Amino acid sequence: MSKAERRMLRHKDPSIPESDVLVAKALCKTFFQGDYHIKAVDSAYLRVKRGEFVSIVGTSGSGKSTLLHTLAGLETPTSGHVFLDGYDFFSLDDNTKSEFRAKKIGVIFQSFHLLPALTAKENILMPQKIAGETRYPSYFDTLTRLLKIDDRLHHLPSELSGGQRQRVAAARALINKPDILFADEPTGNLDRDSAAELIELLLATRAELGQTLVMVTHDPAVAARADRTYRMENGILTEQKHTP
Ligand code: ADP
Ligand code: MG
Repeated sequence: MSKAERRMLRHKDPSIPESDVLVAKALCKTFFQGDYHIKAVDSAYLRVKRGEFVSIVGTSGSGKSTLLHTLAGLETPTSGHVFLDGYDFFSLDDNTKSEFRAKKIGVIFQSFHLLPALTAKENILMPQKIAGETRYPSYFDTLTRLLKIDDRLHHLPSELSGGQRQRVAAARALINKPDILFADEPTGNLDRDSAAELIELLLATRAELGQTLVMVTHDPAVAARADRTYRMENGILTEQKHTP
């Protein structure tokens, strides 16, 4: 074992099984504004197995986005832990955190977040550029075919429909074969038909790739298709029992 590998092992929790790709323990995120504070995430526990589809539901303002951003390493928790592949993510140094995010995490946002000056293809390939390697050269074709954007690759985002933009964003989130794909109300800015189409393509892609998916959604029908569902209420996360 190299020195670097030994150093990394100090951040790994041996009690977390290999199959638990994402674990949150006593996760808290409080926002402070003057003498006023809001507990957006209040001691959340969560466990996601490799390959699982987990949905998160709850009313607006209940803390779903804050939870998702913290799980995805985009926002630092006030206290508590996020274990990614067993590694205590927020105990890692900044370089390793960036490396983990680039290789292990993909995120789809409600508002797409595509770079407007780049074509669809350039947007999709951007994470590979950032990771500094083309780890999966044939994956681009697979993804763009599965997400049905292979005929739109040379267009700018402004020349695409909302649904197509979100499919490009999904391909970009998946291009590095992340361990986990996070999606925060990915259909929130789409009309009904495009929303339904996006969900079908996203779930078909996930099924084909065996991708782990954690999705915030306000649509109970979409949430019900997940393996498991969590509900957020005033910052408190509970697992919901699916009615058979
Ligand atoms: P949801 O995604 O469920 O609508 P959010 O996670 O966006 O909820 O927000 C949860 C709570 O935290 C809300 O009361 C919101 O106003 C507050 N909040 C979110 N982000 C911030 C921030 N950056 N600063 C202060 N308060 C915030
Ligand atoms: Mg939100």
